[in-house]
Amino acid sequence: MGKRIFNFNAGPAALPLPVLEEIQEELLDFKGSGMSIMEVSHRSKWFDDVINEAVERTKRLLNLGDRYHVLFIQGGASLQFCMIPMNLAIQGHPLDYINTGTWSTKAIKEAKIQGKDVRVIASSEDKNFSYIPKDYKVDGDAAYLHFTSNNTIKGTQWAEFPKSGNVPLISDMSSDFMSRPFDVSPFGLIYAGAQKNIGPSGTALVIVRKDMLERVPKELPTMLKYTTFSEDNSMFNTPSCFAIYTINLVLKWLEDKIGGLEEMERINKEKASTLYDFIDHSSFYKGTAEKDSRSLMNVTFRLPNEDLEKKFIADALKTDLGGLKGHRSVGGCRSSIYNATGMDAIRALVAFMAEFEKKAG
Ligand SMILES: *Cc1c(COP(=O)(O)O)cnc(C)c1O
Repeated sequence: MGKRIFNFNAGPAALPLPVLEEIQEELLDFKGSGMSIMEVSHRSKWFDDVINEAVERTKRLLNLGDRYHVLFIQGGASLQFCMIPMNLAIQGHPLDYINTGTWSTKAIKEAKIQGKDVRVIASSEDKNFSYIPKDYKVDGDAAYLHFTSNNTIKGTQWAEFPKSGNVPLISDMSSDFMSRPFDVSPFGLIYAGAQKNIGPSGTALVIVRKDMLERVPKELPTMLKYTTFSEDNSMFNTPSCFAIYTINLVLKWLEDKIGGLEEMERINKEKASTLYDFIDHSSFYKGTAEKDSRSLMNVTFRLPNEDLEKKFIADALKTDLGGLKGHRSVGGCRSSIYNATGMDAIRALVAFMAEFEKKAG
């Protein structure tokens, strides 16, 4: 086996090693089929079991009960930016959005393109999206309130979700989905591009409350309607079989190896606080997000200048710490520490950061 590095990529991102090993083990002969999971029919019992298991695990992990559908939709999180207003807007009612960064901005743009009555009720753009807004008023008449639970690029996260009264919440949870437990009851829809925390890229996992589907307009193109996916268990056409298979294995790892979302959250908090504590005690590294808004998933920080940042990223890679470059739109450094990144990776990173500071600081 080739070497594996400590992977801090933002997405596609690290997958749990036991999951990769399981994939490797059953790649040539999936459960006695004599085929890989990429070669079996999506109409076969083999794949049916896989997708049903993935749905059931999602329902168990998040206590969804019977009120929600779990769907797998191609096109990543970005297609959801347009599908949500297309399917769930209500004529004569505004769409409320909170803008906390690059991804929220894109979601807002896609709703506006469709000529919807979009209202941005709060934004942290005034301070380069370095915080989560606290002052906002949700329009009681709104069809939904959309927010991004974790801001992958800016390194901020909603510690507690916005309160919206009777207005259904809709959240882009791409980069913190399944990182912590939460109460789903205020949510009309939750979506996550799989490649951050639960699997390979190209697919979004979408959780939609059943009553929300009454809003879906009949005249939409077939593949852009949520009902097409809910009525056929995400198999109106050929789904992303390999992605769904991998997602199921990651969820199995979460349930059986980690022990569920409470334990996952405890581990994630320990990882993030180790890294933030180190940064806070250093005068060399500087966190970019406000302390009460910091993300447990994407730790963004700067060094005294860009030359040092370049050297930091290059030297880190030489010691097998990969993916520490900040998003191209903001620069700096970012350590993405999703579920699959263990405490061993954090310890290795902190040791490297201390060493680098000693040499350069
Ligand atoms: C990565 C990311 C996206 C985009 O996901 P795609 O699957 O590439 O469309 C959207 N929202 C958030 C919060 C992300 O982190």
